[in-house]
Amino acid sequence: MSNPSLLILPGDGIGPEVMAEVVKIIDWFGVKRGIAFDVSTDLVGGCAYDKHGVPLHDDTMAKAQEVDAVLLGAVGGPAYDDLDFSVKPERGLLRLRKEMDLFANLRPAQCFDALADFSSLKKDIVAGLDIMIVRELTSGVYFGEPRGIFKEGNERVGINTQRYTESEIDRIARAAFELARKRGNKVCSMEKANVMESGILWREVVQKVHDEDYADVELSHMYADNGAMQLVRAPKQFDVIVTDNLFGDILSDCAAMLTGSLGMLPSASLGAPMANGRPKAMYEPVHGSAPDITGQGKANPIACILSFAMALRYSFDMGDEATRVEKAVEKVLADGLRTADLLGNDGETPISTTEMGDAIVAALDASL
Ligand code: NAD
Repeated sequence: MSNPSLLILPGDGIGPEVMAEVVKIIDWFGVKRGIAFDVSTDLVGGCAYDKHGVPLHDDTMAKAQEVDAVLLGAVGGPAYDDLDFSVKPERGLLRLRKEMDLFANLRPAQCFDALADFSSLKKDIVAGLDIMIVRELTSGVYFGEPRGIFKEGNERVGINTQRYTESEIDRIARAAFELARKRGNKVCSMEKANVMESGILWREVVQKVHDEDYADVELSHMYADNGAMQLVRAPKQFDVIVTDNLFGDILSDCAAMLTGSLGMLPSASLGAPMANGRPKAMYEPVHGSAPDITGQGKANPIACILSFAMALRYSFDMGDEATRVEKAVEKVLADGLRTADLLGNDGETPISTTEMGDAIVAALDASL
């Protein structure tokens, strides 16, 4: 069997800085666990534009389609703000998502005990929190037609269309149920079936998929506005939340902030299974290229490292190794090590990006 393959796209700004720490961990797995990856590295975003005049070269796109998983850092920065929309760094990211048909966006919201004080909510509400939001990523109101700004009589009207087919709902529901089986075995589906026909269909199809193939998973339905309230009132009631593109966009950001810093948040975007049974997949931190701290050694690499842990779990079926990485992060935080974004104003001394990466590698060593 050949090694699992990874395409690394560090991107712009702090992307290369945080990705360098992930590479240390990938190397650690090769040396200490005998788990070697075939790694190739390429350009995306502003750096790709600088070299090729486009934010994602066709050859890079072709490589992304071939590998088992793509790991992406971040794209964008002030140098590219005035570029034409069609070649902006973010277009590289959108092209990857679109052409790989990554329809399921997984956003975990996990609260490490050592950071529970960091949340804007009370400690007992968030301590031990571990939920997963599964957002439909390739359809819904961001893509539905008709869309545009039209003339109607003597004024203009802005139109977007919420549209979901049964098969689109079916596949995202299956993704959520499969995930739940690997976690707490509970799914809460959120829509607005009280006021939207697309919500009624969503609820029907999710229920049907459940009844036919996932009756062992506990399923509940909730209106998305109530879901938003429940997320800040009692988030630990949830395990997996499945929802559409628009509600998922908002609910996942809300859930993420329960846990503190942007520098801690990983994500995965998954598509249909490939010939080898692995899903098309891209893993990336939620944060952007953070131009305000680029090149200063201040970036927190944990979001990117936890994204790699998600790759271990969801692309390579190495759940135990993913847990090993997550536990190593937990240990380092429990030991009180913090990058600047994880410190209050108490005059504590932060560690650098590379020191955080090295500490996590040391914690991995200690796990053997
Ligand atoms: P950002 O996420 O880059 O930064 C927001 C704030 O969080 C900044 O103060 C930054 O210093 C801090 N921060 C972010 N990640 C951090 C980390 N790992 N460690 C410590 N602090 C961290 O968002 P922004 O400032 O709105 O956008 C900057 C650029 O990134 C823009 O060009 C934007 O288009 C792009 N962007 C890219 C992505 C992506 O690649 N997926 C996502 C969001 C924004």
